[in-house]
Amino acid sequence: MLEMRNGSWRLFQFRGITVWLHWSWLVVAGIFFVLPGTIFSENIFVGIFTYLGLFGIVLIHEFGHALACRSVGGKADTIMLWPLGGIAFVQPPQRPGAVLWSIAAGPLVNVVLLPILFGLYLLAAFLIPTTPEGIPTTILGSNLIEIVYWLNSINLVLLIFNMLPIYPLDGGQILQAILWFFIGRSRSLQITSAIGLVCAIVGGILALMSGRTWLFIIAIFVGWQAYNGYRVSQIMAQQENQYRFDPWNRR
Ligand SMILES: [Zn+2]
Repeated sequence: MLEMRNGSWRLFQFRGITVWLHWSWLVVAGIFFVLPGTIFSENIFVGIFTYLGLFGIVLIHEFGHALACRSVGGKADTIMLWPLGGIAFVQPPQRPGAVLWSIAAGPLVNVVLLPILFGLYLLAAFLIPTTPEGIPTTILGSNLIEIVYWLNSINLVLLIFNMLPIYPLDGGQILQAILWFFIGRSRSLQITSAIGLVCAIVGGILALMSGRTWLFIIAIFVGWQAYNGYRVSQIMAQQENQYRFDPWNRR
């Protein structure tokens, strides 16, 4: 039996980093396979392998964060996979450079995967026998090409989505770490979390108007995290002011 804690199953450990799978991942996977019209429900073979591929891409993205965080002396021992992707619980040292590297390493994994997955697609297209019109002669061949095609698309979409400069997405956190060099920690967090909050509200309204449930859930998650970030930035600013006016606490 897999060990379960806080609604998550312990999958495995690699380099001292334990990977947990939240139960909601299975529920969402189930919904995708049951909902008509998704790639998962239309072809169960393609669906299963594409979903496992998505799982793998998210997982190594999170390992990118965790291993980068450790390389700069930070703490990272848990990766949790849940329906909105993965979360690497990283605590990099509180320096802008260390935070920047820990966050940027995740999307960098997707950048490295771009040529690898595209090469795999070219290889599949080259090796799998096709008719003169370019249609694979076997069902297995056409399924394999479809899976590799979807993995390329998923990796590209994840990269673009993660790089949106909207806190708490990776792009927003990268922007915050860059601003940190110039205007300090609390101010950079205040600006990027405010941008995140505005984008979440606008995105949530657009999602409601267009009936996109999944986008609405993401907007709520982003908005909630951005709001928390904004509150933390205010507490930080207060503490910074305190240190500024109390010479005995000066760092
Ligand atoms: Zn990430």
